[in-house]
Amino acid sequence: MLRILCKQLYFWGHKSIKMNNIILFGPPGSGKGTQAVKLAEALNLCHISTGDLLRSEKAAGTQLGLEAKSYMDKGELVPDSVVIGMIGNKLDELANKVDGFIFDGFPRTAPQAEALDNLLEEKTTKIAKVLALEVTEEEIVKRILARGETSGRADDNDEATIRNRFQVYLNQTAPLAEYYKGQNKFVSIKGEGSIDDIFAALQQAVSN
Ligand code: ADP
Repeated sequence: MLRILCKQLYFWGHKSIKMNNIILFGPPGSGKGTQAVKLAEALNLCHISTGDLLRSEKAAGTQLGLEAKSYMDKGELVPDSVVIGMIGNKLDELANKVDGFIFDGFPRTAPQAEALDNLLEEKTTKIAKVLALEVTEEEIVKRILARGETSGRADDNDEATIRNRFQVYLNQTAPLAEYYKGQNKFVSIKGEGSIDDIFAALQQAVSN
């Protein structure tokens, strides 16, 4: 399913409201997708999941999808240029027509984080907060194997691939926490417990 559910706003003349942009951060299987849908609905934001965008390109058999497939199936990251280009197109299409974005699964590398700041600056907006879901590796492996029974995702079935995704997260994505701590935007949230309790903690963090 393509998770881009955005109510678009149309304005007379120049657009002037401030956008509210949030990053949901955390390892694969930490619940970013589930919580992003709920937050997008509650805050009237546009949910952008790079994983969903890439899977829909794959399913449509586009050149981009074919290129992405080999990386995704192994649990490796798709090259930055591909993902950044895809996000740039989405922002061109939607910025200033929505109240803001929830980024899910993006950015995942330092170049992606810098590119996102630049792309948002071009749209005269920026990231307001980075909400990080903290979940242990053992819980992640359990959750993704359970999801694999129904998700049909090639990367959800094999424990070695799941552990590789977690290692890729530790090596390439987790260090971005420092980048956002340096910008005073990083909030850590316990990602284990009931979906509703985690959602409440996220909402609290947004309103603080
Ligand atoms: P999960 O968070 O469970 O790993 P995603 O749907 O976010 O699932 O991502 C699935 C795969 O898509 C990743 O393992 C990676 O190959 C690719 N992908 C998604 N987002 C990015 C990104 N920002 N940069 C590079 N690759 C990405």
